[in-house]
Amino acid sequence: MRFVYLDYNATTPLDERVLEAMMPYLKEQYGNPSSIYRFAQNARKAVEDARAKVATLLNASEREIVFTGGGTEANNYAIKGFAFANRHKGNHIITSQIEHHAVLNVCKYLEERHGFEVTYVPVDSYGVVDVDAVREAIRDDTILITIMHANNETGVLQPVEEIAKLAKERGICFHTDAIQVAGKMRVDVQALGVDLLSISAHKFYGPKGVGALFIRKGVRIDPLIHGGHQEMGKRAGTENVAGIVGLAEAFALAHEGMEEEWEREKRLRDKLERGILERIPDVIVNGHPEKRLANTLNIVVKYVEGEAMLLSMDVEGICASSGSACTSGSLEPSHVLTAMGIPHELAHGSLRFSLGRFTTEEDIDYVLDVLPKVVERLREISPYGVGKEELERAAEYSSRRRQVH
Ligand SMILES: *Cc1c(COP(=O)(O)O)cnc(C)c1O
Repeated sequence: MRFVYLDYNATTPLDERVLEAMMPYLKEQYGNPSSIYRFAQNARKAVEDARAKVATLLNASEREIVFTGGGTEANNYAIKGFAFANRHKGNHIITSQIEHHAVLNVCKYLEERHGFEVTYVPVDSYGVVDVDAVREAIRDDTILITIMHANNETGVLQPVEEIAKLAKERGICFHTDAIQVAGKMRVDVQALGVDLLSISAHKFYGPKGVGALFIRKGVRIDPLIHGGHQEMGKRAGTENVAGIVGLAEAFALAHEGMEEEWEREKRLRDKLERGILERIPDVIVNGHPEKRLANTLNIVVKYVEGEAMLLSMDVEGICASSGSACTSGSLEPSHVLTAMGIPHELAHGSLRFSLGRFTTEEDIDYVLDVLPKVVERLREISPYGVGKEELERAAEYSSRRRQVH
């Protein structure tokens, strides 16, 4: 049976070349970068070379890059770190309804446990954050705006440059979760005008559990992890040397032939999208037709549950996702799709395909062969029928199932 991995937005395989670059630091170069002897200085140099590489690619300076234990930590550090260090300036934060949980739940925590006030701005039906809503949400006590660069579920690109400009005019710090964009498109912190920006290695063929935060010079931010003086006193703990080397190598490799790879994935994604629409009736494509990552396709297949499609596809060797990886396992529909105004009944029938470096034409042909059969079979046995009454029954059915779980 064919194995087709189309969940690159959840994670990517480690590139062989990245593993090779990491190996010496997992084996013979095991020195602690903070130690004084020459042996350990090899590890120190590897970390600093990696920092320089990442800084150059982001158009930042080396002192503005702090390595973290992944993308979630980078977001936590940016938002909590800034909020705690700047509380005296104000109590209000602006974010959007479609952020990753690594932003949304940080904001919720600040709201519920630390008395910050948070505004969650809406998106339009394409899943694009409303810049006017951000402008209107700004108050005199707003200290931070955090809006993602591209959404992980729909791939929709957000107007971060415009929002960054707005923030700058009002003297507000702007953070962006660029975790889905880094490695797919060039990310230039100067062109974007952002103050804080998160990236994560395992989303661009690097190792899991390592990320980085860009912190613009002059931006005050409290450390999240206290301990030793590593990472210029900003992130304590002995450095994950191999992971950091891997992040930098993977990030550099992703920039080689980046535009060509974007076009290649876009052609395959568009073929998948067209093929599905031709072969399966009652399918909606979610997100903006153009302002979207080239690798991402999010659809709603009406009258079928996403989860059921995933399980059937899994049997055929296809990996995809429904909602985000973190919410599958729960039966709540995607907060991203519901924020776009997609009714719950339909959001339950969502599927996300995300393509990547190792996706081939044959993979797409295989999905176009398997998925129509899967949908046809599920629609035959599904409790979902056509029409309002049936959809209501379906919604009731899902809520019953939710109670069972
Ligand atoms: C994957 C992802 C994260 C979380 O990053 P981890 O490195 O897995 O912790 C955060 N935001 C977005 C948009 C993501 O896609």
